[in-house]
Amino acid sequence: MQQKIRILAVLEQTMADGPGFRTAIYCAGCHHKCPGCHNPQSWDFNAGYWATVDELLEIIKADTISNVTFSGGDPLYQVDAFTELARRIKEETGKNIWCWTGFTLEEVEADPHLAQILPYIDVLVDGPFIMALRDTSLRFRGSSNQRIIYLHGEPPEDIIPGTVPLKPIR
Ligand code: SF4
Repeated sequence: MQQKIRILAVLEQTMADGPGFRTAIYCAGCHHKCPGCHNPQSWDFNAGYWATVDELLEIIKADTISNVTFSGGDPLYQVDAFTELARRIKEETGKNIWCWTGFTLEEVEADPHLAQILPYIDVLVDGPFIMALRDTSLRFRGSSNQRIIYLHGEPPEDIIPGTVPLKPIR
């Protein structure tokens, strides 16, 4: 059966959710409930609307210049459907995928159910927002505990000189 994702919004050609133009899939639902979260209305798993993987793929493929961002909410609470979407993006397009999550990479790697998505994600921005570590000078992150992790080496088009820690793990 076709997987569905509970969606808050799909932003097309945004430049705020990773480097360059991106199609950003904002999903509903987050259990992390970080104090100071910039988007607490995204915590509700019943907010928004359902979209199938095919419907999202159609929007992503129609834009020939944008790469892809998964955000929310936390995409890893809908990891089965996001894994299918990510796998098909990698199989059917040349686009890279940035994924934001409130889990740390170590938590994701320790849970096979969550880790199923890692082979298809190029960049993971990980960890909860921690108010005491808030730093508005950071690009693409709210607090300094969060990391921009290149899971498969550094994609040349995404290098952000001097601003991000790189942690190639495979
Ligand atoms: S993980 Fe992100 S969306 Fe979830 S509560 Fe924390 S900051 Fe908000």
